[in-house]
Amino acid sequence: MSFDVNIIREDFPILKQKIRKKDLIYFDNGATSQKPKMVIDRMNDYYNTENSNVHRGVHYLSQIATDAMEAARDKIKDFINAGSIKEIIFTKGTTEAINLVASSFGRAFIDKGDEIIISEMEHHANIVPWQMLCQEKDVKLKVVRINDDGSLNIEHFKSLLNKNTKLAAITHISNVMGVINPVEEIIEAAHNFDIPVLLDGAQAVPHVEVDVQKLNCDFYVFSGHKMYAPTGIGVLYGKEKWLTKMPPYQTGGEMIKDVSFEETTFNELPFKFEAGTPMVAEIIGLASAIDYMYSIGINNISKYEHELLDYATEQLLGIDGLKIIGTASPKAAVISFVLEGIHHYDAGSILDQLGIAVRTGNHCAQPLMKRMGINGTIRASLAFYNTKEEIDILVKSIDRVKSMLL
Ligand code: PMP
Repeated sequence: MSFDVNIIREDFPILKQKIRKKDLIYFDNGATSQKPKMVIDRMNDYYNTENSNVHRGVHYLSQIATDAMEAARDKIKDFINAGSIKEIIFTKGTTEAINLVASSFGRAFIDKGDEIIISEMEHHANIVPWQMLCQEKDVKLKVVRINDDGSLNIEHFKSLLNKNTKLAAITHISNVMGVINPVEEIIEAAHNFDIPVLLDGAQAVPHVEVDVQKLNCDFYVFSGHKMYAPTGIGVLYGKEKWLTKMPPYQTGGEMIKDVSFEETTFNELPFKFEAGTPMVAEIIGLASAIDYMYSIGINNISKYEHELLDYATEQLLGIDGLKIIGTASPKAAVISFVLEGIHHYDAGSILDQLGIAVRTGNHCAQPLMKRMGINGTIRASLAFYNTKEEIDILVKSIDRVKSMLL
């Protein structure tokens, strides 16, 4: 398909809105993306015609809902090229998926004296669950340094690997800088020590093709809402060999085989990790978002977003006093910057008055802010429905911010 951004924008009802009497310019896709009509309609259809609880019912609607949910699981399996649907666990999002692994893998495989590796560029969701586990089990948290350009210091990573390391949990793409980490090299180096690797893919799945078998990662986690799907649905991919040995994270209905007051046996994968009624509409919505992305083509998305990223980088660098945080390549379409003499919050508030939605602050990455010697950035995170014209308006608006505040 040839890529026509004007046609694509028609698919997103929210983009037609005026915000503060201005055309909405939405550059906060890293926080959450907008949803195409196809996804919204699919979820409405589900509630209008198919809604029922899944897995337990013999009646028609329950079977339809179960089929739709399990077809979605199969689609998600193909989307990241997992080997089996047993390896696709539905969670509420990336955060819950990481908590699941920290809790369950932690209980089964991590003990006093062990070490866990994360990096300086992690989102808090990939820091705090490990920190809690380390405190509970007397385990050491090792932190990979990053270089001044925002790239991961791969040599430092390799130097941290040893026989006590039990897991490395690293982001695939930085939510602050857009920097794409050398995940293949990370995984290969860790596997040389038989160390499993969890990749935080929250910022990767909207932008690049992900193949978990090719990557050979042990766990891969992501959220639907950053990839044009609803909130409240995320995915944990885990290699079957790990998931089989891991204890349940939460317990209750759905995840059991037999329950008596003496003993409970657990359901098979993936249901062992899905206690309670699942988020059926959201799961179906996620499958629909994948269909939407396929209709555009993941490679077309990456290519167009790269053009936007290059254009935005060039234009922004032309602004006096603007510094981009994270200049390493390769990068996905996320740009963080600071403006000399201007607080990010003030800049963000003025941009908002001009109809431009950017995110300001520490982006749930306080250790990264500390490493970069700043207390926050202005972040423009782009999606394939953004345009060069919108970037031109951002650049002009930053000039306006400067003239108002300096
Ligand atoms: N990791 C990264 C890299 C993220 O960007 C985010 C969301 N900002 C998360 C984890 C947490 O995702 P969620 O809030 O959807 O659980």
